[in-house]
Amino acid sequence: MSTETEKSQADQLRETLFRRQKHACEAISIEEIAEADEFCEGYKGFLNLCKTERECVDWFIARAEKLGFAPYEEGKIYPPGSRVYVNNRGKAAIFAVLGRQGLEKGLRLAAAHIDSPRLDLKPNPLYEDKCLALAKTHYYGGIKKYQWAAIPLALHGVVCKKDGTTVQISIGEAPGEPRFCVTDLLPHLGKEQADRKLSDGVKGEELNIIIGSRPLMLDDKPEGFKLNILKILHDTYGIVEEDLVSAELEAVPAFEACDIGLDRGLIGAYGHDDRVCAYPCMEAIFKCEMPGYTSMVVLADKEEIGSEGNTGLNANYLVNFITELALAQGANPRNALRNTKCLSADVNAGFDPTWSSVLDPLNAGYVGLGVVVTKYTGSRGKAGSSDASAEYLAWLRRVLDDAKVLWQAGELGKVDEGGGGTVASELARLGFDVVDVGVPILSMHAPFELAAKTDIAMLFWACAAFFEGE
Ligand code: MN
Ligand code: MN
Repeated sequence: MSTETEKSQADQLRETLFRRQKHACEAISIEEIAEADEFCEGYKGFLNLCKTERECVDWFIARAEKLGFAPYEEGKIYPPGSRVYVNNRGKAAIFAVLGRQGLEKGLRLAAAHIDSPRLDLKPNPLYEDKCLALAKTHYYGGIKKYQWAAIPLALHGVVCKKDGTTVQISIGEAPGEPRFCVTDLLPHLGKEQADRKLSDGVKGEELNIIIGSRPLMLDDKPEGFKLNILKILHDTYGIVEEDLVSAELEAVPAFEACDIGLDRGLIGAYGHDDRVCAYPCMEAIFKCEMPGYTSMVVLADKEEIGSEGNTGLNANYLVNFITELALAQGANPRNALRNTKCLSADVNAGFDPTWSSVLDPLNAGYVGLGVVVTKYTGSRGKAGSSDASAEYLAWLRRVLDDAKVLWQAGELGKVDEGGGGTVASELARLGFDVVDVGVPILSMHAPFELAAKTDIAMLFWACAAFFEGE
């Protein structure tokens, strides 16, 4: 009996019994890596053009229309292969490709959100103080406030006027355009600030954006800094101060998406969460021609503040659309909901060696090891999470493995550490089978987040398999 035989027996057992996680570079071919990189070039272009939920909706609808999608018409009977969409107030949207099977059999639904953390301008934002014009903000979503000072910001959004017209605004993206900035204290005078808790390093009411620094000059006399800004806004957009009350202006990082690292394996950008899932989901449904089941993607707004409001997934627009599709086919909408399989496509925390103490290394998502399947989010006893059923996870494993999609199973941090939520709970409430599947992220919710190119492409392949699967 040689030790070699014993070893190989043990190795054999290991091979049969252990789950071995492979890095994408080991698991897929050089050609597939190149394909992933190519896919991510498209993604980077999208990121640079779409930094708000409204811009995402406009961009995806424009692209969808080129690919044969048309606005959904109530009551119309759509044959299999039909491509329709619903635009919910320009801030959320649903896209569907009708399947060969009736709605009665359920759908294959992927849900991603297109809102990201940012600084929203307050209804009365403008003021001047000591030779500067500033704008007050109220941050949106869970941010570490100190990260948003001393970085270049762009201003995106809409101003809606009383006459019913809307002014689109995007300042600070094109080369040569001015940008904006929240100031931070110089370290020389920051002793008191340094003694604050990190969460109060920069407080909410200190997130004031510098928007101007020169007074309006009339007859060689300085007439005010705020007045100068309002005059520029009026000259450029025809708006007055009161119009800012009916506006949604979002200050977002003015960074461009770029490759990170000498091997170019990662993309650094603002707003990966959750455009890094929205884009692959949409590319997958665009490829869908004649799926077995009706394939659908919902791009939701307001996830970052709890899915509230009429564009968040707490609202009824998704269930209403599915109901209408089912009724038009003479199907029972309740069966459509009950039989639906759903991916809640959202990001999870990637394992960060610098900040590893908050993660369970056995149950964390690793950058480069594929999409993270998250059975439950929540924290401290799974509170607030939609715990996906084992049966559904087994089905999903088969779909992913058959399509050779690299996946890993992770939680969001250690049990008592913190945690978070996704739209999975809102979707589960409708009766779907639903589980979180998404891309692991480093520096999540920072103005500049990181994600691996192969993980992003893997989510695209996962969604394609999910839509096409039986
Ligand atoms: Mn998210
Ligand atoms: Mn988030």
